[in-house]
Amino acid sequence: MNESKNVITLSPTEQRRIERFERKSTAVAEKMLRRIRELSHCPESLAPFLETLERIYVQKLEPSRPKDIPLVGTYCVMVPPELVYAQGAMPVKLCSGSYTAFGVGDDLAPRNACPLVKAVMGFEDVDAMPVYKNCALMAVPVTCDCKKKLAGWLAERRPTALLHVPANRDRDEDMERFVGELYRLSRQLASITGTALSYDNLEAACGAMADAQYELSRFIELRKKHPLIIRGSFSMAVMNALSYTWAPLWTKQLRVLNNELEELVRQKSMAVRENQPRILLTGSPVVFPNFKLPLMIEEMGGLLAADETCMGERGLYDPPAIADRSVDGIMRALANRATRPCTCPSFTDNRRRIYRIRQLIENYRIQGVIYHVLRGCLVYDYEYATLEEELGRLGIPVIRVETDYNEEDVEQLRIRVEAFLELIKYGRKES
Ligand code: SF4
Ligand code: SF4
Repeated sequence: MNESKNVITLSPTEQRRIERFERKSTAVAEKMLRRIRELSHCPESLAPFLETLERIYVQKLEPSRPKDIPLVGTYCVMVPPELVYAQGAMPVKLCSGSYTAFGVGDDLAPRNACPLVKAVMGFEDVDAMPVYKNCALMAVPVTCDCKKKLAGWLAERRPTALLHVPANRDRDEDMERFVGELYRLSRQLASITGTALSYDNLEAACGAMADAQYELSRFIELRKKHPLIIRGSFSMAVMNALSYTWAPLWTKQLRVLNNELEELVRQKSMAVRENQPRILLTGSPVVFPNFKLPLMIEEMGGLLAADETCMGERGLYDPPAIADRSVDGIMRALANRATRPCTCPSFTDNRRRIYRIRQLIENYRIQGVIYHVLRGCLVYDYEYATLEEELGRLGIPVIRVETDYNEEDVEQLRIRVEAFLELIKYGRKES
């Protein structure tokens, strides 16, 4: 497994800047990890997932992986991991939740850009995080405006593959173009790894991801238990860790966790009391270490029963439907899987997100929805009104919570979340 850290000669000023950055970002990550570990009913088998987050954000190491496998930074669930693995690289999802990197990016990006993109720009500028700086290629789907500008900004600095994603996925010609984008990405992958696309390597990579999906489907079934068997903050840590874990290793870790949870079910040792409000968290991505909202919900007595975010199950939930067992058939299946079932609001048509949320409400016995909007994330903010209307019809209370990447809004958030949980407990809607 690769443990390397690059050594570069820096000026004393730059060195001090990096040290300050590392101290601050490490402190935030350590604090979030401590708060996760301090929640009650933490299963023993959660440890490897938290250790992965620690490895990347506290120890500042690269992800563990077989020797000589290059990293490819991906910026959206629409980059199929199967393709990256097939061509001898490891995908790492680099959408960022770092407050410290956001502080740097805030001076580089326009004021109204979203904090996620500002944080990515901050990491790129400071160049101190191995998982960012040692990527051989960045793959950025052009989805929202922020991602579009990020793609251009990154492309001026390092090898970057842009993927044009169709805004509407119902037209065949648009989908055809996206398949072409995946082939273009494949050529760029081949140029960094020397491994051309073949049926055998694609099939093997699809097999590895199918194993991960199988364990995820077991995990999802366990999450549906009532009372809850695993807290939502723990589940979100599991899914965030996937971004930096070699897929077969993550599958093995999840298998062990699933086995432990099944044993807990047999012993009727559920994670929480039955009468706590069951919350669904949806909206803009929740990326470690920006776990303030999930932790706040659970520290204040709510149960984060489910989440619908792209750092959650969305990225792995749907398997590719391979009808034609050829390279082209698999590429088409990957293109379809990456876009057609995706509930990301960057698509113009998005009724499927409403259906998905309704399904989650039913499956997880949700009593209230917290809608997370990162400041400047217009695509998610646009969809709030439609969802609010739909939830009103269903009689499910919902609040829109706008946050940024800092701790300044914590008190205000706490008051709102606490009031929301109380209102659900006592069966009234927020006024
Ligand atoms: S929110 Fe949408 S565009 Fe952004 S990373 Fe997630 S799936 Fe991709
Ligand atoms: S979807 Fe929202 S959070 Fe993601 S990059 Fe775009 S604006 Fe930022």
